[in-house]
Amino acid sequence: MADRSVDFLLIGGGVAAASCARRLREEGAEGSILLVGREQEPPYDRPPLSKGYLRGESSREDAQVVPSGWWEDNGVELLTRTSAMSIDPGGRTVKLSTKEEVGFGKALLATGANVRRLRADGGDLDGIHYLRAFGNSDAIRADVEQAERVVLVGGSYIGTEVAASLTAMGKRCTLLMQEEVTLERSFGREVGGFFQALLEQHGVEVVGSDELERFEGSGERVESLVPKGGRELACECVVVGAGVMPDVMLARRAGLELGERGGVECDSRLETSASGVFAAGDIAEYESVVHGGARLRIEHWDVARAHGETAARNLLGHDVAHEEVPYFFSDVADWSSMEYVGPGSGEPVIRGSLDDGEFTVFYVDDGRVTAALTVGRSGDLDHARRFIREGGRPMTHSLADEGTDLAGL
Ligand SMILES: Cc1cc2nc3c(=O)[nH]c(=O)nc-3n(C[C@H](O)[C@H](O)[C@H](O)COP(=O)(O)OP(=O)(O)OC[C@H]3O[C@@H](n4cnc5c(N)ncnc54)[C@H](O)[C@@H]3O)c2cc1C
Repeated sequence: MADRSVDFLLIGGGVAAASCARRLREEGAEGSILLVGREQEPPYDRPPLSKGYLRGESSREDAQVVPSGWWEDNGVELLTRTSAMSIDPGGRTVKLSTKEEVGFGKALLATGANVRRLRADGGDLDGIHYLRAFGNSDAIRADVEQAERVVLVGGSYIGTEVAASLTAMGKRCTLLMQEEVTLERSFGREVGGFFQALLEQHGVEVVGSDELERFEGSGERVESLVPKGGRELACECVVVGAGVMPDVMLARRAGLELGERGGVECDSRLETSASGVFAAGDIAEYESVVHGGARLRIEHWDVARAHGETAARNLLGHDVAHEEVPYFFSDVADWSSMEYVGPGSGEPVIRGSLDDGEFTVFYVDDGRVTAALTVGRSGDLDHARRFIREGGRPMTHSLADEGTDLAGL
């Protein structure tokens, strides 16, 4: 017998769960809402952790998904520092780390992701950091105060953003990655090369086509990183950005179906294999109607936000598919920003000029625009969204030709 019951139970203290809570109230939900999150802070946005917050330019308060008074004002119960230990989807109960057992009408799982840790000799030396939460960002900032040289491991957006932020803070940064060119796995060589050149112009040394062998230190602290290629990289601090793994522990224990991409299997309405239990954000592996039913699992802030909102509508019984084209942004210090809609691959078609730092790349596969990335031309993304939704096959020379109005394609 549960100790008490709520109408809507939201598990996970990130942007997906918080956006769901907000949207539930915006849609007029009158029932009780309980949000349970493991971290000590109310739900916050993680993007500033590698950008303004890391550089000391913005505060914790600035990163909160909703202002601190919102929870009470909107009658949403927020339990921080509380984990959901197990959930029984059939019996509609959850056991919390506080030992309380709570019954629920419908639930959302939004347990996010954990960083992928690298196994290497010396991996437990002081000064080696991963980045997911406020505390990690604080620890990096405190550590680099004493450091002159920092090594970043990983050539994706965490590695490049942190390299840019720490360089802007006056540190000498070296970025080590398996890829030949930064960001190439997500955006291809041409765009990756643009961002790598930008980093190098600002003094970041980039070591590509190599990977971590071991860390070294004569005492407790890291003093260098030795890549497989053998060239020792001296440093006082290391930040690893080697990807994340969806946190599906709770879902797995509850017997929910998991997908091929390691996430929680959902339909196009984000409902899991258990009726009345939805999933959102980094863990949700869903059927995307805007991608012809392809199964996607995406680790982007805006996708988590939008999932939370779709899930809210479905918790209220609206029966809607998730129809947003996934959107991603990344800032390389204040040197440049990119925005992306997709995901997709294909031949890059460039509109504008990489040399001038203002361009849009449309990725075209079999005549179809599947994705687009822009630097400085946000308006082009609205057209890209339309092409993706409609399965449009605009002529590639028209996409590239700045004299052709995209609205007419
Ligand atoms: C440093 C950094 C920079 C980023 N920058 C960008 C960017 O520029 N652009 C972009 O699009 N994306 C960015 N992202 C990715 C983006 O932040 C994530 O996609 C987003 O946070 C996912 O939200 P979520 O709510 O699904 O999960 P999370 O934010 O991971 O939140 C899940 C929460 O659930 C909690 N939890 C887990 N299990 C339980 C449980 N059993 N009980 C209770 N609570 C639990 C976790 O502790 C966590 O607080 C960045 C991420 C990081 C780490």
